[in-house]
Amino acid sequence: MEIATNEDFPEIREAIARLCEPFDDRYWQDLDRRMDYPEEFVRALSEAGFLGALIPEEHGGSGLSLRAATVILETIHRNGCNAAACHAQMYIMGTLLRHGSEAQKKAYLPGIASGELRLQAFGVTEPTSGTDTSSLKTRAVKKGDRWIVNGQKVWTSRAKQSDLMVLIARTTPVEEVKRRSDGLSVFLVDMREVLGKGLEIRPIDAMINHNTNEIFMSEMELPEDALIGEEGRGFRYILDGMNAERILISSECIGDARWFIDRASTYARDRHVFGRAIGQNQGIQFPIARAHAETEAADLMVRKAAGLFDAGEPCGGEANMAKLLASEASWHAGEAAMQTHGGFAFASEYAIERKWRETRLYQIAPISTNLILAFLAHQVLGLPKSY
Ligand SMILES: Cc1cc2nc3c(=O)[nH]c(=O)nc-3n(C[C@H](O)[C@H](O)[C@H](O)COP(=O)(O)OP(=O)(O)OC[C@H]3O[C@@H](n4cnc5c(N)ncnc54)[C@H](O)[C@@H]3O)c2cc1C
Repeated sequence: MEIATNEDFPEIREAIARLCEPFDDRYWQDLDRRMDYPEEFVRALSEAGFLGALIPEEHGGSGLSLRAATVILETIHRNGCNAAACHAQMYIMGTLLRHGSEAQKKAYLPGIASGELRLQAFGVTEPTSGTDTSSLKTRAVKKGDRWIVNGQKVWTSRAKQSDLMVLIARTTPVEEVKRRSDGLSVFLVDMREVLGKGLEIRPIDAMINHNTNEIFMSEMELPEDALIGEEGRGFRYILDGMNAERILISSECIGDARWFIDRASTYARDRHVFGRAIGQNQGIQFPIARAHAETEAADLMVRKAAGLFDAGEPCGGEANMAKLLASEASWHAGEAAMQTHGGFAFASEYAIERKWRETRLYQIAPISTNLILAFLAHQVLGLPKSY
């Protein structure tokens, strides 16, 4: 496996940078104030085909590598934009692609690739089970040729801006399975069919503009063929997609970190206090320089993880390390940018405070730092499992 250490995929970097140009600080600031969805930005990305990057050509996508997809997301974030509004359109379909039937793939993937159909909602987290997915309570019971679903999800992002949702629910009671991770199944929910008829979506007022929601399902009826893959194997299907998700999110962190470092360096050169540029003070320089070093190191891990993924090699350790290191690098870069901007860091027009809030998320979602450390300790280092 070879890993590019240069600015690979220059044509993608250029095209994304051009696409991001009209979506400047004011665009995001205005949406943030209204907690509104970046509809025009998502449309521009979909029309240019970037959100269908990972869908094979035979299903209407561009069939690019995961590394190419990381370059897309990194460049979006490097240009001050936020792909969190739509990144899931890139990877949630992976469950369908790997485990769906031919009929399901034919029916949905071309529409997802063109952006006509939005599959960017992923219903996993529940209010009472948290990270412990195998103890989730949402139940799906087969009645004749229908599935009847009852339960609740929380933090289901972009549900209001999606046509489809991948949902995980328990289909065999936990007392009847050997392992708690057995008996969970994955469904493709066409929310257009069930909204207001068993499905209720309530937005959560959150610290960042992430369009995230609570989902209530009461006697929600799904057709038999909403099931993806085999009944009872849903936990494994979800795990399958996690490495890709972690690597992609890491690349957003790398983009954020580089954006913070650019902004902080520019401000440190331009702002004069006590008759000299504040960037001449080592107290200002060093945190920026340290964040730069951390970002470059994290980027190497993101590239390695993506390289292994694209080569079809195991990459669990690397995907998790990439997420850990990149989310910490972006946070440290955000902190450096906040401190460098002094009081102006708090002024929304500088965009630092918005990005600072946004990049903090990645140490908690889609998986928290502690759970990554637990994975590395247990799965990579062979230490006893702590939970
Ligand atoms: C803005 C936002 C968007 C999100 N979008 C989605 C989405 O689209 N779909 C979805 O399904 N979920 C989504 N999530 C949920 C997210 O994945 C979870 O919040 C995250 O995985 C943490 O779960 P929790 O909040 O239940 O924390 P908990 O599991 O309750 O954990 C709380 C804290 O305890 C720590 N902890 C728990 N157990 C252990 C342990 N054994 N050892 C050490 N530490 C431990 C955790 O690391 C964490 O710091 C989103 C969350 C946010 C905030």
